[in-house]
Amino acid sequence: MSELRYNELRDEVVVYAIHRQERTFLPARDHCPLCPTRPGGPPTEIPLQHFEIVVFDNRFPAFEAPRGAAEVVVYTDDHDLSLATLPPERAEALMWVWRQRYEELGARADIDYVYIFENRGVEVGVTLHHPHGQIYGYPFLPPVPELELAADERLGGCAECAQLAAELRDGERVIYENGGLVAWVPEAARWPYEVHVSIREHRDSLLDCQPQELAQLANALQSVVAGFDRLFDRPFPYVMAVHQAPTATARAQPAHGHLHVEFYPPLRTADKLKYLAGSEQGAGAFISDVLPEESAAELREAIAHAA
Ligand SMILES: [Zn+2]
Ligand SMILES: [Zn+2]
Ligand SMILES: [Zn+2]
Repeated sequence: MSELRYNELRDEVVVYAIHRQERTFLPARDHCPLCPTRPGGPPTEIPLQHFEIVVFDNRFPAFEAPRGAAEVVVYTDDHDLSLATLPPERAEALMWVWRQRYEELGARADIDYVYIFENRGVEVGVTLHHPHGQIYGYPFLPPVPELELAADERLGGCAECAQLAAELRDGERVIYENGGLVAWVPEAARWPYEVHVSIREHRDSLLDCQPQELAQLANALQSVVAGFDRLFDRPFPYVMAVHQAPTATARAQPAHGHLHVEFYPPLRTADKLKYLAGSEQGAGAFISDVLPEESAAELREAIAHAA
């Protein structure tokens, strides 16, 4: 059972998913529930000996039908790979899976926003190490995409297009480019190694992308994560958030967004975490001790050497 409650003072919805306390927590490797089911071995969530990409309903969902959705996307049957080390054709296939889930979940009347994301590392609360991501179908428009839409209205145009153009003009914080995608550390990044990956042509969502752009998106994401891992020579924890147009069918306004992916890594050095403390939590003001231009230079170098 999950329940939504509204906080008037913050104008925000909080989701209560109390059954989630029972979640599987960091099982031993040979009890990984996302590995294939081996003959004679314990059954896992996936009753197959081999697979490429598998999507299934989260057994411990934050949301459940008929209000919202919570799905798990397993990238590979190889426990030891990551988004960075998947074969490129598998990473590209993952983009097509994301696209298909966006289309199918977005068509549902109970889902206003399809949110694709990945939590990586115990530092961000990961309970399973097997390479996987998640998809939430929110029965409301969450605050972060809502803020981005409000920025579009304020500017009278696409804020993402404007930021992308400004970053390309400036160039100092750009860390990676390919034909269709650009990655940079935002000028006002909240996290020391925050990275923003955006599609050059305005595309509201994955559904509007050309096949070649999906391949380039996969390549950009793999390059960024490979650079992260190279930076401190360790698997780099992060939250990866895919933002695209809301899918609310009840709303009168046209679907508008600009497909982009944001990475929020909690590390500020190889072994020090950035904590959200008094200023961030109580006042909502982020304080960072690294300039985005400096971390961009480090990441640009790391991506070049990881290639
Ligand atoms: Zn596994
Ligand atoms: Zn745009
Ligand atoms: Zn965004």
